[in-house]
Amino acid sequence: MKTSQSLLSRWIVAATWLMVVAISAPATGDELIAAVHRKLENYRENLDQLAAWCEEKGLTEAAQRTRAWLRPVTDNRLFIPILPVKIGGMTLPDNALAEARDWYQRWMALRRQQAEELFALARGAVRQGRAGLALDLAFQALHENPDHEALRRIFGFQPYAGEWRTRYEVQRLRSGQIWDDRFGWIPKAHLARYERGERPAEPRWLSAEEDQRLRQERNAGWRLDTEHFQVWTDHSLEGAALVGRKLETLYQLWSRLFVRYYLIEAQVLSLFDARSRAFAPRPMQHKVMVFRNRDEYNEALRGRAPQVEITSGMYVGDRRTAFFFFRDAPPGAGPEKALDETTLYHETTHQLFFELGPVSPTAGQRGNFWVIEGAAMYMETLRQEGDFHVLGGIDSPRMIAARFRRLQDDFYIPLREFTAMGMADWQNDPRIGAIYTQAAGITNFLIHHDGGKYRDALVLCLLAVYRGTDTPDLLARLTGQSFPSLDEEYLQYLKAMPPLPPLKLESR
Ligand SMILES: [Zn+2]
Repeated sequence: MKTSQSLLSRWIVAATWLMVVAISAPATGDELIAAVHRKLENYRENLDQLAAWCEEKGLTEAAQRTRAWLRPVTDNRLFIPILPVKIGGMTLPDNALAEARDWYQRWMALRRQQAEELFALARGAVRQGRAGLALDLAFQALHENPDHEALRRIFGFQPYAGEWRTRYEVQRLRSGQIWDDRFGWIPKAHLARYERGERPAEPRWLSAEEDQRLRQERNAGWRLDTEHFQVWTDHSLEGAALVGRKLETLYQLWSRLFVRYYLIEAQVLSLFDARSRAFAPRPMQHKVMVFRNRDEYNEALRGRAPQVEITSGMYVGDRRTAFFFFRDAPPGAGPEKALDETTLYHETTHQLFFELGPVSPTAGQRGNFWVIEGAAMYMETLRQEGDFHVLGGIDSPRMIAARFRRLQDDFYIPLREFTAMGMADWQNDPRIGAIYTQAAGITNFLIHHDGGKYRDALVLCLLAVYRGTDTPDLLARLTGQSFPSLDEEYLQYLKAMPPLPPLKLESR
């Protein structure tokens, strides 16, 4: 009886879902996504042909490089290429063989053409109010042609001494500084001494050990500035530089994905308009403190958070500062081993949303708390794979848990009820762990499902919730779908994924 009933209800839900899909006319956005798919397909064929040509000529390595060029095809992760800094990478050295030169010229011609076509699609997307997609396409175009000046300009780069640099970097470089991954921005003339293990301590120089001892004794620590962050730590200079570098990457990705959160439509349009002067948002530094161990972190925050012991980092809005700590690491291990990147990205994402927009003091309290946590959990997945930064995926611990709970445990709070929950509802609910994973799953679905057709709706959802202008039907209204049809679409999205790994969840 139970089975037939649930089958029947499942059939009804499925039928309703099909009806909704059939009734809703294809949005212009979907046509745009279809056009992008066609363009990529066509490009893939051209690259395949070029690779076959290479094989005929015996250029095996060239064939491999050509085939490997397209980023992996996937609908559940965002691949963000790491751009070259040097200008002129698209020309081959003079001593290359004639046939290799021929291949390279053909390859670069294909890439330049693809860059122009993606740029055209990006301009179309921005005119349709699809800012997130537009920036994504523009960035893909830049990956094809990293020396495209108009595209570089959109992302705030300008040519300087044979390299693409941001305005902030140009100012630093002009004043004789360089960035070093171990030491941060330092005067170029000091690099050799830094590398010999010396540190400046006006008016003299100290050994790195002595400098470390004195700073810890005086409780001074290190302050390190990057373009968008002011990092303080009493761990080490290298630790500060590491945090600064990781957070700059987070900022780059956050600012593209959520561009419509902090820029209005007209400002995004002006980025794409070659006639107008590029709109450059005023750079702002966000404060981050990373204590050298958990004890210091607990001590510093006990007054603010009675349960500080169970947290691994937190953003404190009224101090406009995010707090973290380095974990224990084997002696001699670098700061990488001691940094909890997941928490760093999660809390700093909260910070960026909070500090880069007019935020209502009651954001997420009346309802829609899911989107605040969902966005932070999504950015938490940031990692590097080869020449790409990667976000999302179905195999992150939270996504695996979300799939388990929905598909195996049948735990699910329908979206009408789920989106109505505010911060206090979450905190007072014994199911809080499962609620977090559902928010992670829903956010992943909105960003990736069907080529990202709900991605812009998610960003506008964040905007409304942080501003405090959200209503209970917010998500349904922005996606143009009813709550029950979104419930069903989410279920089908999870079901269409490859099977779950054989794994037992430890904590439910
Ligand atoms: Zn959070």
